[in-house]
Amino acid sequence: MKAVVSTLILVGVLSATAADAQQAPTEPQIRTEKLAENVYVLFGEGGNIGVTVGADGVAIIDDQFDRMAPKIRAAVALLSDKPIRFVINTHWHGDHTGGNAAMGRIGSVIVAHGNVRKRMSAESVSGLNGNVIPAAPPEALPVVTFDQSVSLHLNGDTLDVTHVDNAHTDGDAVIRFRNANVLHMGDTFFNGFYPFIDTSSGGSVTGLVATLDRVLLTVDDNTKIIPGHGPVSTKADLQAYRDMLATVRERVLKLVKAGKTQEQVLAAQPTQDFDEKWGKGFMKPDVWVGRVYVDLKREVEARKVRK
Ligand SMILES: [Zn+2]
Repeated sequence: MKAVVSTLILVGVLSATAADAQQAPTEPQIRTEKLAENVYVLFGEGGNIGVTVGADGVAIIDDQFDRMAPKIRAAVALLSDKPIRFVINTHWHGDHTGGNAAMGRIGSVIVAHGNVRKRMSAESVSGLNGNVIPAAPPEALPVVTFDQSVSLHLNGDTLDVTHVDNAHTDGDAVIRFRNANVLHMGDTFFNGFYPFIDTSSGGSVTGLVATLDRVLLTVDDNTKIIPGHGPVSTKADLQAYRDMLATVRERVLKLVKAGKTQEQVLAAQPTQDFDEKWGKGFMKPDVWVGRVYVDLKREVEARKVRK
């Protein structure tokens, strides 16, 4: 009898699942992709996670959300039985640092640019949606901070963590695996869609394009590039992203300098030829153009003030 009841319940669940398949929220899972000997990327919910494993232990780059921390640890445990010794944060946003507290509590040393610690230490307002973001608990804060760069010598490789200024935020770092020829870009690279540039955290489209120009000089056709969001990519993908940004920036800047209003800039559709490829992500074309406009207008006016 018990078995029959269970079967009925199971059937009920399956029918409901089939019917609600499109609406039902699915529990996010971690998917692991191998990029090189000892180097992996984990995809889940939030920013992409870089991983190095080996005799010296584990270091991860970013840790998504607090609720993902047990899943991240489980995914890492399938790759290595060693502890997560280091967590490197590419920047302060909660979809990249949300697991910090959980990692800090198990003894991982958190490494990030000084502005990451500074921004996480205080309550702030999200530049994306205006929500109040509380200060992070002490165990979530980076313990080792740097100003320009820091290198980790682990697992037969060197991870160069380099600050790039004024790009997605004012505390961004890109991480290069020297031997594995892998580069983690954090949110200076959204692969496949228009980016969120957090101007309220010191980011700017001008600084982002300059950063991408500098980074492109350091990669080759074999470099595996981990974006903050989107699939693993190549130099050609990064170049296409840079070219899109630079072109849109140039077009909007021209309109700003001509004294156009935001409405006039939107009406000019400066991203029209890019929308098919880049406009289908979370940042819709009009919203994105509006943000670029505000950013560049502020920049143009600031220069006027200085003159
Ligand atoms: Zn971000």
